[in-house]
Amino acid sequence: MNRSKLNKYEQKLVSMLVRLRGDVQFLASETKSTPTADGIEPHDFVADDLYQADQMLLSNEVNLSEEIQGALDRLAMGKFGVCEKCGEGIAEQRLDAIPYARRCIACASSVS
Ligand SMILES: [Zn+2]
Repeated sequence: MNRSKLNKYEQKLVSMLVRLRGDVQFLASETKSTPTADGIEPHDFVADDLYQADQMLLSNEVNLSEEIQGALDRLAMGKFGVCEKCGEGIAEQRLDAIPYARRCIACASSVS
């Protein structure tokens, strides 16, 4: 993969990461401000559902930002776009859709 393509993926990954970090901060502050059971504010089930949805979203986004960070590390090490399982190059269409993909399509779809 040439340098300009790598730059393109790097920019994509960095902008995803910046956006995610903003979301994570927002969600973290939102979940913190949710009234607790021993708080003065009523703790109805709607607030509880929202809180759980936020928590789930937050952990998904934290996982995703770790994946993206990992892809940036691979990029820095010159291993970006190489399947971690079989060592073959990952198809560019796949990287365009999922720039932080660790495995090629064949390995990602095989159950192991
Ligand atoms: Zn593979």
